[in-house]
Amino acid sequence: MSAWGEYGRHIPLAGRGGVVAVVEPETPASRAGLQAQDVVVSADGQQLRDVIDWQWVADGSQVDVVLLRSGGAEARLVLRREPGEPWGFSFAETVFDGVRTCRNRCAFCFMTQLPKGLRRALYLRDDDYRLSFLQGNFITLTNLSDDDVARISEQRLSPLYVSLHATDPEVRQRLVCAREDRALDRFDELLGADIDLHVQIVLVPGVNDGPVLQESLSWLAEREGVLSVGIVPLGYTAHQQRFEGSFESSTAAREVIAAVAPWQEAMRVRDGCSWVYLADEFYLNAGLEPPSAEDYDDFPQYANGIGMVRDFMDAMRTSALELATSIADLPLHLSVTVGTGELFAPVFARELLAIDPARRVAVVGIRNDFFGGNVGVAGLLTTSDLTHGLAQTPEDGLVLLPDCIANADGVLLDDRLVASLGTAVGREVRLLSCDVGGLLSGLRDVADNPPSRKE
Ligand code: SF4
Repeated sequence: MSAWGEYGRHIPLAGRGGVVAVVEPETPASRAGLQAQDVVVSADGQQLRDVIDWQWVADGSQVDVVLLRSGGAEARLVLRREPGEPWGFSFAETVFDGVRTCRNRCAFCFMTQLPKGLRRALYLRDDDYRLSFLQGNFITLTNLSDDDVARISEQRLSPLYVSLHATDPEVRQRLVCAREDRALDRFDELLGADIDLHVQIVLVPGVNDGPVLQESLSWLAEREGVLSVGIVPLGYTAHQQRFEGSFESSTAAREVIAAVAPWQEAMRVRDGCSWVYLADEFYLNAGLEPPSAEDYDDFPQYANGIGMVRDFMDAMRTSALELATSIADLPLHLSVTVGTGELFAPVFARELLAIDPARRVAVVGIRNDFFGGNVGVAGLLTTSDLTHGLAQTPEDGLVLLPDCIANADGVLLDDRLVASLGTAVGREVRLLSCDVGGLLSGLRDVADNPPSRKE
């Protein structure tokens, strides 16, 4: 018997469900007749809003699916599988009914400080609890409804990542400017439903540091289920007039480190982990070594730029012999430069020098004038800065850059293709994944496949 039958009705496709991206051959999905570009509208009678709904409903051995085919024809399939067998298809997007955007007007919002002409996705101000659960995006809780809290609780969407910034209502109003701020109540409702939370505080000098930070940490420490607190410094660009500094001085950065240290010590005694962690910038700006890997516990806020420097340093030291061997294998005539952000470059250069005292591989910290302000990370470099920053490197040399400068489609922040970068900077450019493994395989690749020599 055919697993599906056409209903013959025609209904608009847009926003009705999840678009199927790929169907693997010889899987339950392909055997049932599912095809790429089908739009899965419902499963076992439940309308699908996102992949979470799909995972929630389709956790058994059989699922009854209603879908739309090209032209709008509705069809029904029954997918069956053996225990443990994957369904064998993927959705094009994780959220089917549109990403929820924020209702706030945060004083420090980085999106409002961006120049024009960047990749469109960069201007999206998402504030969607589903992306928080699926991808670790930080949300503010200011747009959560009662139904959202009920769904989070029912489907166990835990942990979530919350940008809280402060617990003092007046300071919150000054920082977040939400029309109706029930975030602290929502925070407690989620904890009450046994949803674990990771918290972020964007630290704005003179606003939520000092006693306000101490009050926020006290409030958070009283609550079971707050798994970690990450403190990151305000980021600002030159395309605004409101901010001029953000803990860039060694003194200011050390004050924050000193203010947080007693909390880390106390929480280590109480809970066996540091609990509150500072962004790498604080240690870089202070001119101090970042804490040990043990102090970062299981690196709960790694993707938030907390512990990346320590992790990279340790990985370089662990892989020192392999790195030294791959550098020794580079063609003698070839000049190799690794470009990175201005902030991390001194640490990277120092670590590399211990492995490569002959300086066969150079490190260049590239200044970010496109954004300006205190933007110093590699992931925000654009074509103009790369062109300028690499101008002093040998023209016939090879440049290695971290792949975080481009998205998965090979598009840079300034909407240019990464493939055009070599022409723009006038040197051969290759991308590396942003970890020590990527550096190692990139160097090995250069040794095995060096650029052809110019006559
Ligand atoms: S929550 Fe605040 S910082 Fe985040 S996008 Fe909205 S306005 Fe910007």
